[in-house]
Amino acid sequence: MHEPQSIAVNDDERMIPAWSIILASIAFLLIEYYFWIIAPEHRHHAPPPLGFRIYFNLSWGVVVALYFLMVGYISKDAPRRGMSTRFWMLVCFVMPGGIGAVLYFLLRQPEVTRCPACSTHVQSDFHFCPQCNYRLTASCGNCYRSVRTTDIYCTRCGHSLAEDEMPRRLHVLGD
Ligand SMILES: [Zn+2]
Ligand SMILES: [Zn+2]
Repeated sequence: MHEPQSIAVNDDERMIPAWSIILASIAFLLIEYYFWIIAPEHRHHAPPPLGFRIYFNLSWGVVVALYFLMVGYISKDAPRRGMSTRFWMLVCFVMPGGIGAVLYFLLRQPEVTRCPACSTHVQSDFHFCPQCNYRLTASCGNCYRSVRTTDIYCTRCGHSLAEDEMPRRLHVLGD
């Protein structure tokens, strides 16, 4: 089993890869080409009103393009959550009516990152590393709920965060 190449979360990274944008554009153009050029040639009855045709043709193009964008998004998002990328790309693509995408968002796991101290895989909702007890996010020293680094008192229990012995601005520690 090999590790995903990049597990670190990079906010600047594009979440929708170029290939899926290109595929979505091609699919959109093919759909429009079919509905505007090919299909009318085989029509044996009077065409529906133009407004209806514009709405119908564009809707289908957008829906199909969204499928490709969604599969592209999952190809980027699933590895960050330790989920099977190929499986979910397939589910999203095959299930009709976008059900696959809905299922993905219902079932997707929290983001997986690494502990800065020992590199153990940790989920984004962990406060402490399960292996080395490194404090991963700022949390109240009394009730252990999440707090913002700028808070002085815990919003849940009123505990004074300044009294906590652990440094609250952890990202400064690495410098
Ligand atoms: Zn650790
Ligand atoms: Zn608290």
